[in-house]
Amino acid sequence: MTSSARLVVLSGPSGVGKSSVVDRIRSGYPDVHMSVSVTTRAPRPGEIDGVHYRFISRDDFERMIDDGHLLEWAEFAGNLYGTPAAPVAESVAQGRPVLMEIDLQGARQVRAQSGALGVEALLVFLAPPSWDVLVRRLEGRGTEDPAVIAARLETAQVELAAEGEFDVSVVNDDIDRAAGEIVALLNG
Ligand code: 5GP
Repeated sequence: MTSSARLVVLSGPSGVGKSSVVDRIRSGYPDVHMSVSVTTRAPRPGEIDGVHYRFISRDDFERMIDDGHLLEWAEFAGNLYGTPAAPVAESVAQGRPVLMEIDLQGARQVRAQSGALGVEALLVFLAPPSWDVLVRRLEGRGTEDPAVIAARLETAQVELAAEGEFDVSVVNDDIDRAAGEIVALLNG
């Protein structure tokens, strides 16, 4: 029996709740391979190295770029983020559904490259119920300083304007419902 892997790229503005939705999928749907990105950002409280991200130095990140180990990468609010290529390729080859939670720039790169992976990527946009909700969530997180919040809100406006580039929009008005909708898309 053969199965075809679904590669879902989940993007959306900072503060929309991508991590909460992804945490729900990680704990509730172990069959889904969650891609673990590398980043130069410092861990937030509660984030586990190797689970939420692999936290690495800028030198190590640049080496991964040079060695061709990243499927895509981008600079976001002063830090570098990237997707290691090998684990994604392995799951695709095994027919296991893969979920990548990355920014808009990364989503565009994956779309451009999905032919090389042998699987069509489905681009899913996680949208906030409203702009006000997004601002409140970003300010309420309390883990970033005001300059970082301002930069993230500015980027959020650009990201919201790109919603039309995505194949599907999922509104994050309820974490369980949004997670279920994404898993349904992964199972095609
Ligand atoms: P945060 O610092 O809030 O965890 O993530 C900041 C942004 O980076 C989010 O939009 C997140 O989706 C994005 N991001 C996380 N990992 C990756 C990655 O591997 N590649 C790209 N391009 N963006 C990523």
